[in-house]
Amino acid sequence: MPGKALQLSRRSFLAASAALAARPASAATAPSSGPVEVVIVGAGAAGIAAARRLAAAERRYVVIEATDHIGGRCVTDVTSFGVPFDRGAHWIYLPDTNPVTKLTPVRGIDIYPAPQSQKVRIGLRYAREGELEDFLTAQVRTTRAIDEVARKTDIPCVQAVPPDLGDWRATIDFVLGPYFCAKDLAQVSSFDFAHARERNAAAFCKQGFGALLTALGQGLNIHPATPATTVDTRGGITVETAKGTIAARTAIVTVPTNVVSSGGLKFSPELGHHQIDAFGRMSLGSYDHIALELLGNPLGLESDDLVLQKSTDTHTAAMLANVSGTELCLIDIGGAFGRDLSAQGEAAMIDFAVNWLAGLFGSEVKSAIGRKHATRWDAEPYALGAWSAAVPGSQFARRQLLEPIADNVWYAGEAAHETLWGTVGGAWESGERAADAVLAHLGPMRPGAPALAEESKKRTPGGEHVERRARRYEERRQEASPQYFGGTPTIMAPER
Ligand SMILES: Cc1cc2nc3c(=O)[nH]c(=O)nc-3n(C[C@H](O)[C@H](O)[C@H](O)COP(=O)(O)OP(=O)(O)OC[C@H]3O[C@@H](n4cnc5c(N)ncnc54)[C@H](O)[C@@H]3O)c2cc1C
Repeated sequence: MPGKALQLSRRSFLAASAALAARPASAATAPSSGPVEVVIVGAGAAGIAAARRLAAAERRYVVIEATDHIGGRCVTDVTSFGVPFDRGAHWIYLPDTNPVTKLTPVRGIDIYPAPQSQKVRIGLRYAREGELEDFLTAQVRTTRAIDEVARKTDIPCVQAVPPDLGDWRATIDFVLGPYFCAKDLAQVSSFDFAHARERNAAAFCKQGFGALLTALGQGLNIHPATPATTVDTRGGITVETAKGTIAARTAIVTVPTNVVSSGGLKFSPELGHHQIDAFGRMSLGSYDHIALELLGNPLGLESDDLVLQKSTDTHTAAMLANVSGTELCLIDIGGAFGRDLSAQGEAAMIDFAVNWLAGLFGSEVKSAIGRKHATRWDAEPYALGAWSAAVPGSQFARRQLLEPIADNVWYAGEAAHETLWGTVGGAWESGERAADAVLAHLGPMRPGAPALAEESKKRTPGGEHVERRARRYEERRQEASPQYFGGTPTIMAPER
């Protein structure tokens, strides 16, 4: 989620999860040898956080990641522009409490506060102070109106927007809709919107937010380029991957909701109707960066200046200029307009961005444009969108995702955080929570004792005796691919 409305004065929520989020992993080390206890599907923020927690507890885990890199929707590209370009997440929200900043390695990573203000262009000029005040007042009134409605009912946010916003209406629709939620306000639940924690402070990482996440994933037992196709929860866990089968006692699934809904990852037995429904209600919206190199700072902007347009329709964007003092500028699009534009391809996206910029600053800017590139998250097969925002009438669906998928499988990720959805910090906390649930399920480690002996007297809710499950697990483990079980699991450095 981008640097949305830093001036918003929405009600602050005390994170119910704050206490759970404590106790960071002290060391990201690989586990000792032995059968896998936990398989984690996906090495984005949630997967890395879960793995660190399990590594710190010295449990035997493996992370399998479909792509050739770690970080998921938080990844830094250093080749396209020769400077760090965050293809996904860039804003580090609430840095004072963000679990990711707390763990930042001291060396090689620089975090600095993001500017607090934003600039607004009205045609070819900047908004005057009075006009900016009108804009900010309109934002505050609208968010309050949505909060108010959400106390009584869960309706599309658009229905709560005050009718008298005048010529700021389209801009407010963009800032609170596509820019905040990656969806138009008509597609967003008022309840979900109102429960999002206020994100009124942010920071940036000079080396890229993705680089920071990669640093936090170093030394973990991560297998890149290993897409999972099926998670079988019967008789222990069996995960089918493109490179073979993995058996484990438990699983943490962190793939984006759209990947589950589209059948990109299947479960056996199939998910129940209410679970399928919850993933569908937490669908990802559309959000992309159109990155342009603007040579010689032709717009005369400061480092990390955020520029919005007073727009008249949905064909608008937000620009983060001179990213970390470089010549890289990100022009962000989202919602239905962004989705349709992205479907037309990179050339159409760049064309829009160049003309949008020319419309705000004059056509001379075109001659200062160097390298260009656009992300297309909707088309990334292991993401299929940007981040989740609940569809109207889905107030309980996020909570549903917090429930175990089966008695030995947990879902984690940004969509499974009730107040920090759509953020890396939320995904991280969710991953840690899932790891804590797994640790509670596994029980204390008994060195030398067979891992499953602890559970052999329990019965599962489904009535299947754990001993029998343990035997089946052991059989499957024997059959499974040796690369995951040949003594000490391989520690694979994330490939870039
Ligand atoms: C353009 C954009 C801008 C954003 N801006 C911000 C921002 O400024 N600040 C912010 O905090 N957040 C932002 N976000 C949101 C943020 O990136 C996400 O909330 C967060 O990174 C999600 O982490 P996650 O672990 O839940 O999921 P992911 O990062 O998606 O991780 C899931 C992992 O699972 C892998 N996977 C998928 N399918 C399979 C499979 N079948 N087998 C194995 N692995 C699989 C994926 O490759 C991925 O690595 C932005 C997102 C986008 C797209």
